[in-house]
Amino acid sequence: SLSNNLHSITPIIRKKLMGYVGFANLPNQVHRKSVRKGFQFTVMVVGESGLGKSTLVNTLFNTTLYPPKEPPAPNDERPQTVAIQSISADIEENGVRLRLTVVDTPGFGDFVNNDDSWKPITENIEARFDSYLEQENRVNRQKVVDNRVHACLYFIQPTGHALKPLDIEFMRRLHTKVNLIPVIAKADTLTDDEVAEFKARILADIAYHNIQIFQAPTYENEDEETITETEEIASKIPFAVVGSDQVVVLPNGRHVRGRSYPWGVIEVDNEEHCDFVKLRQMLVRTYMEELREYTNDVLYENWRTEKLLSMGVAQDSSVFKEINPALRMQEERVLHEAKLAKMEAEMKMVFQQKVQEKESKLKQSEEELYARHREMKESLEKQRLDLEEKKRKIENGRPLTPEKGTQQKTRKGFLRP
Ligand code: GDP
Repeated sequence: SLSNNLHSITPIIRKKLMGYVGFANLPNQVHRKSVRKGFQFTVMVVGESGLGKSTLVNTLFNTTLYPPKEPPAPNDERPQTVAIQSISADIEENGVRLRLTVVDTPGFGDFVNNDDSWKPITENIEARFDSYLEQENRVNRQKVVDNRVHACLYFIQPTGHALKPLDIEFMRRLHTKVNLIPVIAKADTLTDDEVAEFKARILADIAYHNIQIFQAPTYENEDEETITETEEIASKIPFAVVGSDQVVVLPNGRHVRGRSYPWGVIEVDNEEHCDFVKLRQMLVRTYMEELREYTNDVLYENWRTEKLLSMGVAQDSSVFKEINPALRMQEERVLHEAKLAKMEAEMKMVFQQKVQEKESKLKQSEEELYARHREMKESLEKQRLDLEEKKRKIENGRPLTPEKGTQQKTRKGFLRP
């Protein structure tokens, strides 16, 4: 390809700089620019109601994004389908702005029959891909809003047994469309041993069903510290989390976020107590950009390719057409119209031919009719003339001229009058 060629003919020469140039400041330029633009991040939370989803979101971003929940409505008033609700908030930390959107899926897993609970969620994720694709195809691509779901926190009920069929079905359906991050909800209701066993069982189920959950990427030449951090985070998946918007005062006077029990306090931000800190590290502190990048480069890209292929765009067709379904549709319309016009012209031609044939046939029979008519007229005229001749002769009293074949010779050889 062109880029390969360019690469092979452009020699790379290592040079020492003689003085100040300034491009060492590039990372700072990029940094300043992205800080000015701000960041967009969308996280989806899925799980049965009451598993602590809203509480955890509030805990994660240290805001009251979700107001305290109303007590649930009586059974007959509850909606019968999974709803999709999203809340956005602009939050700022040390001058960095983040437009955070949380997509909640109330109703998931709450019905007698939850077979199709995953469906509205897939549709929502795809609709967001669609909207992004549509923006990419616009003539003016200045303000592209990225509303794609960058991560999906899947809340597993702390049963201590295994994944439920609904959990497996959901993850199987969604793992190619979104970065899945499984969490064990309300981990404070399980003992440490129960958590460890439950985690092993969940991971085995996930592996057995070939479910792809988000893995923090590892790069070559990474420093020790980063490698250790990545490994530590990975070792905690699925994160056993505890959420709380309550601040508890410990006996030693320290104020912590946590849940108070007769036997003690579970601290949200204490790594000895739960995996909340590691989850936040994965989702926010260390891998938010990786989650965004993987969503864009892999999940969205795969979806886009599939979508365009299903629309009949061959991968090897001109790049422009491939990335521009609107142009493609217009081209198809033009082709279709040309086909219609051709068909119409052909039909017209056949019609004209038929008409001509009919016309010439009619003309012919008309001529034949004329000819017969003329013949008859002539023969009648002749007969009339003959009769008139006879009449005249009879009136003049002259004997009739015998007709040709009836003339008889007399014995004397004279014609008999
Ligand atoms: P959602 O329906 O999934 O959004 O659940 P909520 O966040 O509204 O929480 C439901 C209830 O569970 C509330 O009473 C919370 O106080 C409680 N809760 C939330 N997180 C935890 C947790 O980590 N552990 C325990 N034990 N309770 C929690």
